[in-house]
Amino acid sequence: MTKPPHTSLPQPPDLAAGTLLRLRAGDWHHSHDLPCTAYCDMTVTRVHAGVTRADGGHLWVRVTGHDHPTCSWASAEPHAPCVELMVRLDVLQRHAR
Ligand SMILES: [Zn+2]
Repeated sequence: MTKPPHTSLPQPPDLAAGTLLRLRAGDWHHSHDLPCTAYCDMTVTRVHAGVTRADGGHLWVRVTGHDHPTCSWASAEPHAPCVELMVRLDVLQRHAR
């Protein structure tokens, strides 16, 4: 995969839709005002590889998906992603293993 010439940002892992992210304090922060606590479990809909930000010595990637378990795939009606967070790149890489 080619990278834009103006950046050396590592490419975020392409997590499969439905991957469960178990996020703890420091792993993520809001990109919008969302009622999430320090502990946030979500299922991934999409990793937005083009939306990254360097802050506090970490790289953050925008991830959209659904709250877990209230939006589990089995019980919830299909709807647009209801969770949108900036997640630390190394946390995404940890979940990609
Ligand atoms: Zn949802």
